[in-house]
Amino acid sequence: MKKNLRDEILGRRKILDKEEKKHKDKKIYKTLVNSSLYKKCDNIFTYISFGGEVDTKEIIEKAFLDGKNVYVPVTKADGFMKFVQIEDFSELEKTPFGTLEPFDDNLKEEIPRDDYLFIVPGVAFDRNGNRVGYGKGYYDRYFYNHEVFNKIGLAYDFQIKEDVFAMDWDEKVDIIITETETIRIS
Ligand code: ADP
Ligand code: MG
Repeated sequence: MKKNLRDEILGRRKILDKEEKKHKDKKIYKTLVNSSLYKKCDNIFTYISFGGEVDTKEIIEKAFLDGKNVYVPVTKADGFMKFVQIEDFSELEKTPFGTLEPFDDNLKEEIPRDDYLFIVPGVAFDRNGNRVGYGKGYYDRYFYNHEVFNKIGLAYDFQIKEDVFAMDWDEKVDIIITETETIRIS
């Protein structure tokens, strides 16, 4: 079941040694920023990591330095989210859920178009690109409503499972980067 799978992986992420996490994050970071997808894109849509998630803050810092546009999610209670541009971490504040988001004073929504890459968080993935999130379906709903290419899941090796019990509504990713491999879904 998805719930058991979530509990198992979130438990493993929680006990991941801090130094080991940093080490894995660095490898994933390097793979991503050295990829041609990263190099040639001007626009990066990404989650802002929290808790045990694969770090994206280094990636965001690098993207700022490289002069790329960075867009991050603003979630709404009804299960929808929009992406807005940020130019500095100081624009973010903590949500009740613990994540960082820009304060939404009617910020302009941006949608993925032309050249972009789109980094997707996940609790578990399989080798067919199926994805399990926290169970609220935000990304499934988003991808159902917006056509997005080059969806990149970032995960630790232990988050890749044989079967993640995907449902009809579950939207897949196109590429998964872990600390040891890049999985391209055909
Ligand atoms: P997650 O992807 O976060 O692990 P689930 O796949 O379990 O979460 O989905 C959570 C809920 O979101 C499910 O009840 C599902 O019906 C709903 N959902 C998923 N995609 C859509 C969609 N495109 N439109 C409306 N509801 C959706
Ligand atoms: Mg889902």
